[in-house]
Amino acid sequence: MQKIQARYYTQGRIRKVRLLVIHSMEAPEKPTTAENVARWFATSSPRTSAHVCVDNNSTVRCVDDDDTAWCAPNANADGLHVELTGYARQSRSDWLDTFSRATLANAAKVVAAWAKKYNIPVVKLTAAQVAAGKKGICAHVDVTRAFPGTGSHTDPGQSFPWDVFIPMVKEELNGKPAKPATWSRTLVYTKGKTLMQGADVMEWQARMDALGYDIDVDGLYGPSSAETTRKFQGKAGVLKTGAVDKTTWKAAQKK
Ligand SMILES: [Zn+2]
Repeated sequence: MQKIQARYYTQGRIRKVRLLVIHSMEAPEKPTTAENVARWFATSSPRTSAHVCVDNNSTVRCVDDDDTAWCAPNANADGLHVELTGYARQSRSDWLDTFSRATLANAAKVVAAWAKKYNIPVVKLTAAQVAAGKKGICAHVDVTRAFPGTGSHTDPGQSFPWDVFIPMVKEELNGKPAKPATWSRTLVYTKGKTLMQGADVMEWQARMDALGYDIDVDGLYGPSSAETTRKFQGKAGVLKTGAVDKTTWKAAQKK
């Protein structure tokens, strides 16, 4: 892993690691952002740092795990901090676009390695659990809420896809490659009904995305997903129903 030592940090630790804290950099989705933010920590930053910065194609070490980064008041002494390229204001589909999925995968590797090294359970803590001294994974905003008056940061934002990220960390930890979801039910959008959601929906959307269709990979099968499916079915010579039946699913795997 590339290393660019941050300027501001504290050598050593006064407490044991218990929190793995997720941040968004508030910097644009570019393949050089991890390096750029790391350089900023090394030179011109205000007095701040993080252990690791990630973007879609790189992971940059800024502060050693055994040292204390200056990243979130009240979670510095017992925290490890990873900065993800992106913004707290991002929507769920922003967090699940091609760039961010690669960023999440890189962050999941970092967090999984920490969980193993420090025996931290792979669970998303609430602010109350952070305040109660539990071990686990949390957002910067959970630290802010757990210790009122110590900061205002709300990253990585309300739409950060914890339901996607935590399983990615578990998969890393178990050493199993992410297994693509297979077809098990027909995905269909019905107006006025609760949207279907799940790993199979995300898998379908990611497949359409990979085939060049403009689709939000958000794990929710809504009207725009159905419309994309209809377009795909038209091109694939499958009946244009807008529903992903087994025939449609199979047709997309062949492409
Ligand atoms: Zn933060």
